[in-house]
Amino acid sequence: MKESERIEVSNGGDHWECLCGNHTMASGFGTCDGNGASVEPFEGIWEGLYACHDCGRVIDQENYTVISKAENVRSLGATPSQ
Ligand SMILES: [Zn+2]
Repeated sequence: MKESERIEVSNGGDHWECLCGNHTMASGFGTCDGNGASVEPFEGIWEGLYACHDCGRVIDQENYTVISKAENVRSLGATPSQ
């Protein structure tokens, strides 16, 4: 089994830094589902996951572990490859 990646968290959990270098004060993170698709943080829909806006890693806020990586990242300002 592949070892899990973990993001860096500081400032009492307020500041997140992804393995790609994105952090809370840069592109930031958004609530998402297990596939990295953006969802509103509503009970019953949202499972406590965040997606990195730069690389698409899906992060579980319970333990800051990367559980998945979105295939199609809607990078801000980036041109889709298709
Ligand atoms: Zn990232």
